[in-house]
Parts: sequence; structure tokens; C-alpha cells
Amino acid sequence: MSGMDKRDYPEPGAESIARPASAGGAGATCAGGSAAQGSHAYDLDNCIKCTICLAHCPVSRVTDKFAGPKQNGPDLERFRLLEPAAVHPSIVYCTGCRTCEVVCPSGVPVAAMNSRAKAQYVARYGAPLRDRLLATPDVAGRLATLAPGLINRLGRSNWLRAAGEKLAGVSAALPLPRYADRSFPVLYRMWRRERQGAGVNSRSSHGVTGGEKVLYYPGCYVNYNQPQIGLAVLDVLVASGVEARVEEFPCCGLPAISAGLYDAARHKGEETLRLLKPYLEEGYRVVTTCPSCLFTLSQKYGELLGLDLAGRPEQITDIFTYLLELKEQGRFSLNPAPLPLRLAYHQPCHQRAMGCGSPSLDVLALIPELQVVDLAAGCCGLAGTYGFKREKYPVSRAIGENVRQAMEQLALSEAVTECGMCALQIGHLTGARVYHPVELLSRAFAQAGQKG
Ligand code: SF4
Ligand code: SF4
Ligand code: SF4
Repeated sequence: MSGMDKRDYPEPGAESIARPASAGGAGATCAGGSAAQGSHAYDLDNCIKCTICLAHCPVSRVTDKFAGPKQNGPDLERFRLLEPAAVHPSIVYCTGCRTCEVVCPSGVPVAAMNSRAKAQYVARYGAPLRDRLLATPDVAGRLATLAPGLINRLGRSNWLRAAGEKLAGVSAALPLPRYADRSFPVLYRMWRRERQGAGVNSRSSHGVTGGEKVLYYPGCYVNYNQPQIGLAVLDVLVASGVEARVEEFPCCGLPAISAGLYDAARHKGEETLRLLKPYLEEGYRVVTTCPSCLFTLSQKYGELLGLDLAGRPEQITDIFTYLLELKEQGRFSLNPAPLPLRLAYHQPCHQRAMGCGSPSLDVLALIPELQVVDLAAGCCGLAGTYGFKREKYPVSRAIGENVRQAMEQLALSEAVTECGMCALQIGHLTGARVYHPVELLSRAFAQAGQKG
């Protein structure tokens, strides 16, 4: 490891964002296709060798095991044009955070190059069984929620975790995420039955009220680990006059992309699109709560997997952009109750990579007495399943040290972030209670008696 104490980010809390505007600027939205996508024209000459990507890469900041974004990306890409296997083995240390692309002044798709390079490396040399298993969180989730109590107990057993590290290469240092007693699809069916029983029936066969056609895409973390986030979404939408439909989707494929397993990722992507396309073609808005799901569906599918969202990526957006749209149309005139809390906000890397700021902050700003302070500490280091891998855990933890220090400096014990895996890492590093923004909004509506 080298340079682990180096800080690349502003002082935490330097910008208080208790009543912020989105960093993406007025009018910026997180609808699909808002950033460059689908470009295969790797104009390598655009790389001016400034090494800004290297200076900002969170992995390069903490370890010399990774050759760096430019070195693995545009430098070696020239050779890959002739020989696809021209990949440095250190490519497996890239987390896919996309910081390099965000900071590159020349618009070089560095992270996409590195992702493809990793896939070429894995195609030639193979991936460990561990990586293949970690790439299917939906399968693990479906199995685990059959006996969640047992699985959660086993996941917390020290000797089993030690055995898992030794035999399977899964770090014993990071607790596995807890599985919910009931998956979100099960809770959704109960929620719907309860509403129907109470006479609050859907108005159409699609279960959509108010003329809105909205589909909620929960993602694996909500489906199997934190289904209360999905219920909060349904409550917030109903309080806003919209009853969303829910489908049971497979994993979007991001963990497989991150592991360089493009065939597996394409399979997940095709399965997802088979379910999604009819909704898109019928004009549904698709709302998400996980920035990584949104980024994958709306951009990575086209850019990395050559999959097409029925030509309608702009119909997919995050729940907060959608709520702000309703507000702009004068259809979101609710008054959330005050929540006298002071929380740290962590912006997930994929949220930053979409270039649309953090619309969740604009929505949280509607809650009186809620103070949200930007940690401004960069990547948390977990990067999906990256931090669970034995050899990557020390890198992951070293990257997350900035987040830990920022929480300590601000003396905050609660945080809010849109990404479930970031929440897991912040909890692991700091012991903080971490919420999804929609949970806070739902609580503020419920306290104001504005539940659908
Ligand atoms: S990829 Fe972009 S940031 Fe990196 S060295 Fe080239 S021009 Fe600079
Ligand atoms: S995607 Fe992230 S980890 Fe990978 S090279 Fe770019 S900045 Fe570094
Ligand atoms: S990005 Fe979303 S759907 Fe994909 S693995 Fe993560 S939570 Fe699951």
C-alpha cells in the first residue's frame, strides 16, 4: 500500500447542503442517456496524458497493485486494437467507479475501456468460482430469503466466515449483508392485498392511479436485503397520487459486468429487458432507487453490452427526479412533517458518474428541520462485491478511510445515501445508522398523516 493517508477531497462539511440545489445544476436530471453512452469510437488521440485520471482514481490512491486508469486504459488500448489480450493483470483491481471518466478533461471513456479490458482478461484466463457466485445476488437473495434467520446466523458466525475466507476467498472482515425475513416481491403482494382489502383499489388493470404509468425497479438490495426501502417508495408515490406497478426482475447484471463476466451480464440484461420492454413501449416511466441499477440499465447496457432499451432510455429515471417533475407540474404539493435530524450525505460513485447531481438532496430539502451535510469524501470503497473479496478488502477499506474520517470530524452518527452497498460500507466503517433518502421522506409524510 502506498499513500493511504492522502486526501483528494475537500474538507467534509465544507459545503453545507441543508438546502441544496443539485450539483448537476438547474434542469439536470438522472433520466437515462443523460451522459455520453454507446460510443465505440475510442479516439485514443484524445488522451493528452495529463494523468488527472490517475490522480483521482481511488484505487491508485491507496495501492500500487493497480497500474492506473490511463495505463490500463488508453495506453494499453492501442495494443488491444491489434491484440485483444493485451491486458495488464492489475486490471482486476479496477472497481468500475467511473471517477476517471468524470474527471477526464478530454472525454476519454477510460472506465469503459478498462471494463472491456477486464472482460478480455477474464475471457482468456477465467474467473474464480467466488466471483461467479458473487455475480448473482438475485439467486443468492432468492435462496437466502427461504431461511433468512438461519442464513443471517451463519453469516455472522466467526468460524464460518474464517472458513469462507480460507476456502472461498470471501473476506471474513466484512459482515455479509443481512437478508430480510420477507423479500420485497412478497411484501409488495401483501401491501397490495391490504390496500385492496381497505377498499383503496387500483383503477386500471395496470394498478395505476391518476393516469400515471409508473413501474418501480427495486434492484437486488431492496428485493432481498432492505425491502422497507421499496415499501417507502410505494408509500411516497401513493402519497403523491401515483400507484406504481412492481415486477420481479432478475439482477441487472452489474456485478457480472464488474467481474468481467460479460456473457453472464448479457444474459441478465436480456432477461431484464424481456420484462422491461413491454412497459417502455406502453409509455411507462420506470423509477429506480439504486444509482447503480439506473446507471447500468440506462447506460451500461448500451455502452458495454450492446443492449437496447427499446430506444427509450429517457423513460428510466430515479425516484427523486420523478418526484421533482411531479412537483414542477404542481402535482406534488404535500407538506412533510419536520424531522429534526442532522445527517451526513454520501454521494455514491455511480450517482456522481451520471452527471446529474443528487436530486435526492433537492427532495430532502423539502423536509423542515432536516439538516444534511455533504461528506464530500469520495468513494466509500466497497464497489458492490469488490470489498467482499479477500485480496481486495484491504484496498476497499483504505479507500473508505476518507469516509470514516469525514464522519468522525463531523461527529455524525447517522447518514443518508442512495446506494445500499455504500450504506453497508459506511455502517461497517463507522457504526453509523444509514438511511435511504426515500425512507426519510416516507417517515416525514407518515408523521404529517399523508400516507396513501
Ligand atoms: S484519459 Fe483523460 S484524464 Fe487520463 S491521462 Fe488521458 S486525457 Fe488525462
Ligand atoms: S473506474 Fe475507478 S477504479 Fe477503475 S480506473 Fe477508473 S477511477 Fe480507477
Ligand atoms: S446494481 Fe441494482 S440490480 Fe444490479 S446488482 Fe446492484 S442492486 Fe442488483
